[in-house]
Amino acid sequence: MVGSRSGIRVLVAGGAGFIGSHLIDALLAEGARVTCVDSLLTGRRSNLAHLAREPRFDFVEADVTEPLPALPKAAWVFNLACAASPPHYQADPVHTMMTSVLGTSRLLEIARDTGARFLQASTSEVYGDPERHPQQESYWGNVNPTGPRACYDEGKRSAETLTFDFERRHGLDIRVARIFNTYGPRMRADDGRVVSNVICQALAGDDITVYGNGEQTRSFCYVSDLVDGLLRLMASETPLDGPVNLGNPHEMTVGELVDRVVRMTGTPSRIVRRPLPVDDPQRRRPDITRAETLLGWSPRVALEEGLEATIAWFSREIAPRRALPEI
Ligand code: NAD
Ligand code: UDP
Repeated sequence: MVGSRSGIRVLVAGGAGFIGSHLIDALLAEGARVTCVDSLLTGRRSNLAHLAREPRFDFVEADVTEPLPALPKAAWVFNLACAASPPHYQADPVHTMMTSVLGTSRLLEIARDTGARFLQASTSEVYGDPERHPQQESYWGNVNPTGPRACYDEGKRSAETLTFDFERRHGLDIRVARIFNTYGPRMRADDGRVVSNVICQALAGDDITVYGNGEQTRSFCYVSDLVDGLLRLMASETPLDGPVNLGNPHEMTVGELVDRVVRMTGTPSRIVRRPLPVDDPQRRRPDITRAETLLGWSPRVALEEGLEATIAWFSREIAPRRALPEI
């Protein structure tokens, strides 16, 4: 669909991160002009380094919890700004909460004042440790509001509330994507998430850390599928009436994921058990009926294929460091 967004101007908050940088690549490939706003808290310039000479791209370093500089008027605003991995979002929980509340509110105001369409990157974490399975958008969730994950979960729930209030009160054209676990190239090696941890540990021959008994489940979506879903959601002219789950319904235990990576890498790593983090959800699988029906979207990349690309990317990413002479 190259050229289908020709000339449209898009603001991507959080665009230097893992998902945001792939989204920007896809938007530019379709002919859009893109401004990225990012504080580089967990994002990296290297994710966007290949765009240094791209005239349709510009980067603004700013924290969305602070007053923002003047930004070019955009037709679409994507809000992906927020640390997403538990160790990172728990490092400064108040800032994480403020990013979702203050940051989202600032970006919503920009969209309201400029007439832009607004997409909020929400999360499966709004379902908490779900009592219903698989999770449908109509489920209100089971979140501990005072635990260590609450800064992220409740922050994102508040961001959803703000987004729907701007729709009700100001007639804003909004979309809310509830994103489930996503993986792929440009995840950080120090991210702390299970896919990046296990692959990096396997490639380095280090112990592979399984938290708890490894029986907890997740459903992993490859990043190109997720970006396709985000673009379809933003471009949709069908009335949506509520949030839309985006994720891969192929559910597996953490133990099964580890076995798969061990087999694919041929690593001699040992598997070691670590305590299950507080409030770690036991099961998670999206019901994607709404995305299928409203957007004609479903994931295409099989786990084996996605893991292969991610392992290859991490091999290149960590190889130069391993090759450095010891000093
Ligand atoms: P990421 O940490 O790689 O990207 C987040 C980006 O937001 C980073 O570039 C970071 O520097 C930026 N950021 C954080 N706080 C900011 C602030 N206050 N001001 C400006 N920029 C700020 O994470 P990701 O995996 O790419 O996630 C992107 C979005 O998708 C997040 O909103 C996350 O909550 C959501 N999400 C991701 C997943 C997943 O599995 N990766 C799952 C559900 C939801
Ligand atoms: N996990 C694990 N080993 C790790 C990192 C994570 O067993 O090295 C577990 C974690 O406890 C959770 C699952 O893998 O049950 C997914 O964790 P991740 O942080 O990737 O995503 P989230 O918990 O936010 O869904």
